[in-house]
Amino acid sequence: MRYVWGSASHQGMVRQNNEDSLYPDKSGESNGDVVLMVADGMGGHIAGEVASRLAINAAASSDLEPGDRVALANRAIREEVARQPDLEGMGTTLTLVELAPGGVARFGHVGDSRAYLFRNGELRQLTVDHTVAAEYVAMGQLSAAEADDHPQSHMLTRCLGLTRFVNVDEFDLELQPGDRILLCSDGLNSMVGPEGIGKALTEGTADEAAWKLVEVANKAGGHDNISVIVIDVAS
Ligand code: MG
Repeated sequence: MRYVWGSASHQGMVRQNNEDSLYPDKSGESNGDVVLMVADGMGGHIAGEVASRLAINAAASSDLEPGDRVALANRAIREEVARQPDLEGMGTTLTLVELAPGGVARFGHVGDSRAYLFRNGELRQLTVDHTVAAEYVAMGQLSAAEADDHPQSHMLTRCLGLTRFVNVDEFDLELQPGDRILLCSDGLNSMVGPEGIGKALTEGTADEAAWKLVEVANKAGGHDNISVIVIDVAS
């Protein structure tokens, strides 16, 4: 398989800083053995930026399984907090995908950034948000649409940087030529619904689609930082 990706990140229309981090942060292509990821940092001042950057750097520098990469990212943040105790409380989401030459995508995920599959014109969310509202949905107490408006929709139940150990979601996906994978921070999906995301993914190159998604989120208000990686799968 051949993979072509476009990366786009923007601070949005309201925030002064961009606490998201992307990897790779430039568009590119590969025949496989590549890892791509989105991290959404939190913690105020520069701490969120530090946390998401540390996570990305740690996860990119290893050759481990997806879940172990995420665990390594968690440890990198904890070690930095031990060195600089005033950074205590910083954290980040991390959603990553490793693409193998044979066409298997392997995901590791903690937090409320998301991975989607766009196949045959249909958008499917692959990850589960680790938020209070998503847990209500899983228990059948809220619909997915109600969860978006819930006051606790952004309250994370899991993230990196706060605890010594973290429970990582891991899963694999068999890819097909023509698939598009989307990784994004919540600054996209909190502003744009599934129809709007699917529409932006229908046209253009991976790079054009990534910037189109940023544009659509900003037109809807851009309340948060927006980071997007669109990956095209070709035979
Ligand atoms: Mg965010």
